[in-house]
Amino acid sequence: MRYLSTRGGMPPQRFTDILLGGLAPDGGLVVPEHYPAIDEATLEKWRALPYADLAFVLLRLFCDDIADADLHALVRRTYTAETFGSPDIVPLRGLETDLHLLQLSNGPTLAFKDVAMQLLGHLFEYVLAREGRALNILGATSGDTGSAAEYAMRGRRGIRVFMLSPADRMSPFQTAQMFSLRDENIFNIAVDGVFDDCQDMVKAVSGDLRFKARHAIGTVNSINWARVVAQVVYYFKAWFAVTAEGGAREVSFTVPSGNFGNVLAGHIARRMGLPIRRLVVATNENDVLDEFFRTGVYRPRATADTHQTSSPSMDISKASNFERFVWDLVGQDGARTAALWREVETRGAFDLSGTPEFARIGAFGFVSGASNHATRLATIRETESRYGLVVDTHTADGLAVAQRWREPGVPMVCLETALPAKFAETIREALGRDPGRPAAYEGIESLAQRYTRMPADVAMLKRYVAERAPAVDAAPTAAAA
Ligand SMILES: *Cc1c(COP(=O)(O)O)cnc(C)c1O
Repeated sequence: MRYLSTRGGMPPQRFTDILLGGLAPDGGLVVPEHYPAIDEATLEKWRALPYADLAFVLLRLFCDDIADADLHALVRRTYTAETFGSPDIVPLRGLETDLHLLQLSNGPTLAFKDVAMQLLGHLFEYVLAREGRALNILGATSGDTGSAAEYAMRGRRGIRVFMLSPADRMSPFQTAQMFSLRDENIFNIAVDGVFDDCQDMVKAVSGDLRFKARHAIGTVNSINWARVVAQVVYYFKAWFAVTAEGGAREVSFTVPSGNFGNVLAGHIARRMGLPIRRLVVATNENDVLDEFFRTGVYRPRATADTHQTSSPSMDISKASNFERFVWDLVGQDGARTAALWREVETRGAFDLSGTPEFARIGAFGFVSGASNHATRLATIRETESRYGLVVDTHTADGLAVAQRWREPGVPMVCLETALPAKFAETIREALGRDPGRPAAYEGIESLAQRYTRMPADVAMLKRYVAERAPAVDAAPTAAAA
């Protein structure tokens, strides 16, 4: 398998060449040169595989420059009942006839990002050791991504994590999750400012190419290809679970979406031949994706026009993985994709309405819908009273939108993207009481916290990193932002 850029300007590369990287050198995103095809006989053969073995047979189609035995060992170490709470890893819970919840949030940080990030931790450690390199991950977080990255990278050889967060602005639970870590390779930096200040500091440091090379700075953001590919696995797992008893063959999925990484994995599973009928994109009040799927217009918002909502992990102004989908939609044409993103830069939007390409949206199975605070609260209440189940705010957005797209006889699987314990304030508003939390997280807020407080000062951040991440001689190829 070789990888190309969505904008057509990158010589073909192998999986481990792109693993640690960010954007392609031409500003595009890396994509596989083809989607491996899975026929019916293979699907049936894979049906009985445990999660880790299913992950192995799928991953090796995309990653052929890690020896089979090594890759198999890596995924077996990643997908354990100890880390994910059950041998199923991603259990399927039936809510009613033809409505299911795929429980993706039983990993260490209680959000679906763990499924991919935990694998990334093992893959990074393996590849860095093989190449005798180190990596210093520099990131900014408002909550979910930072903790998932820290729990995936903690204690890993050759890796340090420097994670910036806005001081006193994360929820007490999220703060405790990150700041209570005692691992020597994890550095929490609480910045006097808001999330955008943290993001700007990371950009400024990454933009200093000499510093970045000297200190082997990299990222683990949502455009990382290995994260997308790790998520393909659970669409297969869910399809096997839903179709185990015979009956319907086609299954629909609803995916709470922000940066379009999760639902892109569903699209890839469908392109590989998994019998998926519909992929329902569910957004919150930040409806840039819903607008595209309804109208053909892609119009990223300015930061000032991005709403702060009660499903904060979907508060995005632009969907960073969306370019991979559009590349596929326009027939994998790099020049056309590059032209569309030039339009975004110069005119602020592109419009595919009325084009033959936009007509393919239907053939790709995509539909969409948006949710809002009132709908979210109503869905949390309804789900609790009907099924005795408390869902988090993002999952509630998905369940609300899923109802609009259910069809008789077609099972609908809703992806649970976090546990309600992470978003207690809104659960209290909806139900008048606190959500439960897994036993391991009882009293986490009272653990000792370890972090460094810092003004939004780039020079100070550079000094802090340089003192803890010794300079390397050879320039690494790691990771553009
Ligand atoms: C990251 C996140 C999302 C959005 O996922 P994308 O892959 O960015 O579309 C939704 N819900 C939760 C809880 C998340 O943490």
